[in-house]
Formats: sequence, C-alpha cells, structure tokens
Amino acid sequence: MNLEWSIISIAAALIAWLYLDQIQRKKRYQFKLQRVKEIHQNALDAERKRHELLLDGLSDALFLVDDHGRICYANITAKRMFAERTLVGQSPQAVFPDARFITAMQECERMNKSVVTRLILPQQLSPLGSQENRGVNAWLLDVAPLPPEAYPQAKLRILLRDLTAEYQSEQVRKDFVANASHELRTPLAIIQGYLENLLEAGALKDQQMSAKFLSIMSKHTDRVSRIVEDMLMISRLESGEAAALSIEPFEFYSCVQDVLERLDHLIVSKSAKIKIDAVERGLIISGDRFYWTQVLFNLIENALKQNLQPGLTVEVTAHTTTDGVEIAVTDDGIGIPTNHLPFVFKRFYRVDQSHTNTSIKGTGLGLSIVKRAIEAHGGTIHVTSTPGKETKFSISLPNNKIQIEDHFSAAS
Ligand code: ADP
Repeated sequence: MNLEWSIISIAAALIAWLYLDQIQRKKRYQFKLQRVKEIHQNALDAERKRHELLLDGLSDALFLVDDHGRICYANITAKRMFAERTLVGQSPQAVFPDARFITAMQECERMNKSVVTRLILPQQLSPLGSQENRGVNAWLLDVAPLPPEAYPQAKLRILLRDLTAEYQSEQVRKDFVANASHELRTPLAIIQGYLENLLEAGALKDQQMSAKFLSIMSKHTDRVSRIVEDMLMISRLESGEAAALSIEPFEFYSCVQDVLERLDHLIVSKSAKIKIDAVERGLIISGDRFYWTQVLFNLIENALKQNLQPGLTVEVTAHTTTDGVEIAVTDDGIGIPTNHLPFVFKRFYRVDQSHTNTSIKGTGLGLSIVKRAIEAHGGTIHVTSTPGKETKFSISLPNNKIQIEDHFSAAS
C-alpha cells in the first residue's frame, strides 16, 4: 500500500514538475517572443523616425492619405503651414476647401498616376487662411498614388509648395512691362501723329508750324529717353542689387552740393530756398556716389517740380545717431495726400495720374529708383506728409555704412 502511494506521489510530483516546467518554458518563450517583437518594433520606429526627420527637412508640405480617405501623416512644413488646425485624422476636403484640390485627388486615384497643377488662390482660400496677408497667392499641388509598402495604410501623397514669391515677382515683371509699354506708347503716339502731320503735302513749307511741331516732338522724345533711362537704372539695381554698386567712401556734404549745382537753374527759377546747414560735415558714406547723387537729385527735384508756387523751402539734414545716420529731405510744399503715401514708391505711380499732360515732368519711376538704391545700400526710406506744411523723406543707414572724419568738422 505504502509502495503504491509512494509511486503515485512520485508520479504526481513528476507530472506537476513537468507541467510547471512546461508553463515556465512557455513563459520564457513568450518573454523572448515579446522581446524580439519589441526589438523589431523599436527598429521599425527608429526607421520611421528617420524617414519622418527626412520628410520634415522638406520645404514643401507633405501629407499622406490613408485607405479611409483620412490624412494619416503630415510633415512639419505642413503643420507650420496650417498652424492652427488639426491635420491627422481629418479628411483632405476639410483641410483644403478648394474644389480643385479634391478634383486633383480624385483624378489621381482614378488614373492611378500623379497629378500636378498650379493653383492661384485668393487670400481667404489660401491654406494659410486668416494668417495670409499677401493677397492672391500661388501653390503647386502634386498628388501621387503610393505603393502599399511605402507607409502603413497610406494610399496617396499630397505635396504642396508655396509659389507665392515667384508668382508675385512674375506679376511685378508683367506689370512693369505692361506699364512701361503704356507709358512709352503715349509719347510715341504723339511723336508719330506730329510726324504724319509734317509729312503731309506742304506742311513743311509752313516754317512756324513745323518749328512748333518739332519742338513738341523733341519734348516727347526727351520723355521717352527719360523713361528708358529710369527703367534701365531700376533694372540694374534689381539685377542683384549689391553687385550693381561700385562702393567707395565719399563725403556726403559734397555730394549734396553737386546735386544743388545741377539743380541750380530750377532752384533759381522757382525762387526756392535750400537749407543744408544741418548736414553733418565730415560724414563719410561708404556707397556708390552715382546712386546717392541720383537719390538726392530725385528727392530735391521732386520737391521743386511738384510745387508750382515760388518760394518753396527745401531742407536737407544728416545727423548721426547711435544706430547710424538719419538723412532727410523736407519741403513745405503741397505735399502728398495720406491715401497716396503707401504707393508713392511703386513703379510708375504718380499722385496726379495725368502728369503727362501737365507741365510737371515725371516718369513715376523716380521714387522707385530712390527706394531700390537706398535698400541696395542696406538702408531704409519712408515718407510722411502734411500737405501744405511738411513733406519729409527720411533715410536711415546703419553704422557700418558710415564714418565721421574730424578734419572736415574742424575746417568748417
Ligand atoms: P515722378 O517721376 O512723377 O516725380 P516719383 O516716383 O519721383 O515720380 O514720385 C511719385 C509721385 O510722388 C509724384 O508723381 C508726386 O505726385 C509725388 N511726390 C514725390 N515727391 C513729392 C514732394 N516732395 N511733394 C509732393 N509730391 C511728391
């Protein structure tokens, strides 16, 4: 009996041991399997992280759309672009309200090939929404199908590139050409008209009339050459502005005097008073004297020519400050109405749009040249005006563009 019990006990113990061992083995196996899975998952995560870092390095916004038609990934550029919105989990329709986005996606899915299109959107439809303040803006949309192994569940990728800067400069170029053609057409049509009159039988015999026609033609030819010269100057300044300059130190005071000499005839004919007492002597500017002469010439000439009444006072000042130098050209003439002030530096902009027919000569390019030349020298310009009291063009130049030479101060 005892033996039987002993055998049964041993057998039971053996079974229990075998059972526990089995459980232990299973646990060890599961633990190992778990570890292998974790290692594998970590490797996958690290790989994905690396890819995402790479995609975050793109300057274009990138979205992935999953099988359920929801965004399942957006890179950092996309997140920045759509700053205030949740992207992942949204349908692309909710994120891009413009119908052309959706059409492009549907077309891509239908044809199973990439669709690339350029979108010109008004500010309110821009992906940037309320943050957008550039008016109309342009985007390149590139939608392409993805192979299933590319990203878990992703079936489409959407790439969005902001082309607004290129679009705007393209527009500026187009406007420039359109405006230039328009401005040139008027005097050329006038010259052509008078030439036709002169060529008519017998017209040349009338000497008085011929002289009058020729003088009108000569005036309009001058206008054509001035427009062309101004356009060339703008174009030079815009073709890599800094490279267009020939930088050398020059004394600012003597540059002002040169300009006043060139304008002497106009100053005398307008009985204008010019004050340059507040120009710091010994102020040396490191810049292109040719363009600085043009800047001062345009600003002082503008003050003189816009004011038909005699007795105008024009003041040129230049004071050094801790930041650099503040240069100003101020006059007490008719001034510029407030609503025109934001536009006066634009090409071809004239406050009186009918200047071509008045005695005031101008191309509307003078202040554009001034602004571009100042900016090419690392400076800024702005204008304030109280019509009839004070119109002031203020230029700021940083410290690294100037120096003061003492011997000028001592000599003056
Ligand atoms: P323009 O060749 O016609 O002078 P600008 O670009 O130099 O062109 O100037 C643009 C417009 O700004 C001018 O048409 C003029 O109406 C206005 N303006 C510029 N300077 C003055 C000033 N000192 N006083 C009054 N109006 C000015």
